[in-house]
Amino acid sequence: MRTIGLLGGMSWESTAEYYRLVNRLTRERLGGLHSARCVVYSLDFADVERLQAEGRWDEAGEVLAGAAAALESAGAELLLICTNTMHKVADRVAVAVGVPLLHLADTTADAVLAAGIRRVGLLGTAFTMEQDFYRGRLEARGIEVRVPDAEGRRTVHRVIYEELCAGIVREESRAAYREVMRDLADGGAEGIVLGCTEIELLVGPEDSPLPVFPTTRLHAEAAVAWALSDGP
Ligand code: GLU
Repeated sequence: MRTIGLLGGMSWESTAEYYRLVNRLTRERLGGLHSARCVVYSLDFADVERLQAEGRWDEAGEVLAGAAAALESAGAELLLICTNTMHKVADRVAVAVGVPLLHLADTTADAVLAAGIRRVGLLGTAFTMEQDFYRGRLEARGIEVRVPDAEGRRTVHRVIYEELCAGIVREESRAAYREVMRDLADGGAEGIVLGCTEIELLVGPEDSPLPVFPTTRLHAEAAVAWALSDGP
């Protein structure tokens, strides 16, 4: 079994989910008392969020690159950035290490295409929904990406930072997300990408009129499949 490196803390609410998933999936695959070999580097999200809000992405990239190098030194053989948003600096992180980076947009695109879906609605932070670093990577795989309208995007973004990253799950916010997903379905989306690693803490398939693509679970599944294979 190879060692998975989780670059997390963004927020720790979703990193805890990653940790649970890689261990549970490893036990499901191998049985008995097997669990994942992994190392976790958990950043202080307040520091990262400040750099995001101030647009200091180069500095954020340096912070994540340093953490990634530490994970590699600690034995990680594969690197996961445990947040969709911080894939904005994925290129900077990738060059800081000699081990492969499992890009979250790629594991998401693989699942969307495997489901035969070509047009998705994307929920995530404003950075993820409005900028090109994530959408563009899905689009490069032939997937059409739709995002909520401005008010929907504001709600989705606010709930992530003010609630989910702080461990707060509210029924009103679940209802608001359901409405946003219904609107995306009405607008022609065929599936919904839960493109923020905390969103799975709020909504799941039962809340959506369309198939959902939970990025945390998909990322963790791909990592475990890699760790248990002897491929590249
Ligand atoms: N975990 C979130 C994501 O997947 C948002 C927190 C962050 O800004 O990193 O985008």
